[in-house]
Amino acid sequence: MPELDAGTNLILIIDDSADTIRLLSGMLKGHGQILFATSGEAGIRLAQAQQPALILLDVEMAGMNGYEVCAALKTDPTTTDCAVIIVTAHTGMGSEIRALEAGAVDFITKPFNPPVVQARVQTHLRLQQHTAMMRQLANRDGLTGLYNRRYFDKALTQEFERHRRQHLSLALALIDIDHFKAYNDHYGHPQGDICLQRVATAISTATRRPGELAARYGGEEFVVILPHSDADDTKRYGERLCEVVRSLQLPHHASATAAMVTISIGSVSMVPSEESTTLQLIALADQALYQAKAAGRNRAIVSTWPLMPRPIGKGSPHAV
Ligand code: GH3
Ligand code: MG
Ligand code: MG
Ligand code: MG
Repeated sequence: MPELDAGTNLILIIDDSADTIRLLSGMLKGHGQILFATSGEAGIRLAQAQQPALILLDVEMAGMNGYEVCAALKTDPTTTDCAVIIVTAHTGMGSEIRALEAGAVDFITKPFNPPVVQARVQTHLRLQQHTAMMRQLANRDGLTGLYNRRYFDKALTQEFERHRRQHLSLALALIDIDHFKAYNDHYGHPQGDICLQRVATAISTATRRPGELAARYGGEEFVVILPHSDADDTKRYGERLCEVVRSLQLPHHASATAAMVTISIGSVSMVPSEESTTLQLIALADQALYQAKAAGRNRAIVSTWPLMPRPIGKGSPHAV
């Protein structure tokens, strides 16, 4: 399972008074790691770079005031998940409502009452930890711990757009365990689950380059996003992965292909064009997977796009 974000207990104090920063830091000693900034602008930059769990934000500052800073943090996707507590000498409904409208989760008034400050900070840090954990679990497949289909769909769309903008080749590998129905029938469903976990761990261990992402696509199928990968890189990756799974030596006596568990891989590598879509990318990988199955399983086939020119009509992927 993934670890929690590094910023889980990071607290950022944004205040133009060094005395206030000193006072708050003293009260919060032991509650988390503390960063500070003495203006709204510097605070936003620090929040973008460090993504603290919690921000204590002064309202009355030269330059951007606290409400403006809070609104800016909430509209920026890199800082929107930071919880903001507004700190002000103003009391009353008006300021509280303004703080909440700007996207703050809570409100602390000066002069400080240390137990109140500590209790509020503690509560919001705990909530942030809980939220971070839920966010991570929501992205993961329960059985294998790999990313789930939902997260994969989001990540693929982002990578596809990035590769399109930068004119880079993006590859996708669809991985399917061979004769897995027969495996379940022979060894039982619980053993089938263990097999899925072993194969998933092997895939994730073999998929460690920056930006690579492995997910469970559904059932006994997995999918890997390979950034900046041309057809040769993709073919090498596929062959290595087939070998890694074979070398697990998981017995499969009901397989018509080998005495052990094997996988088939269909991949595609393309530089996304203006017209191409992620659906096309997946469909091409799926066709290559079909070819790998038809050619005897336990192998990797890569298709490329654009296809080799064909005399008439639409083409099909050509094997590399
Ligand atoms: P092929 O070599 O053509 O891929 O054949 P196959 O038997 O692997 O493919 P098929 O699609 O016929 O069967 C997939 C099997 O995967 C059927 C289903 O019961 C099993 N399966 C899907 N999800 C799970 C799971 O979470 N746990 C277990 N144990 N089995 C699963
Ligand atoms: Mg101030
Ligand atoms: Mg399948
Ligand atoms: Mg299968």
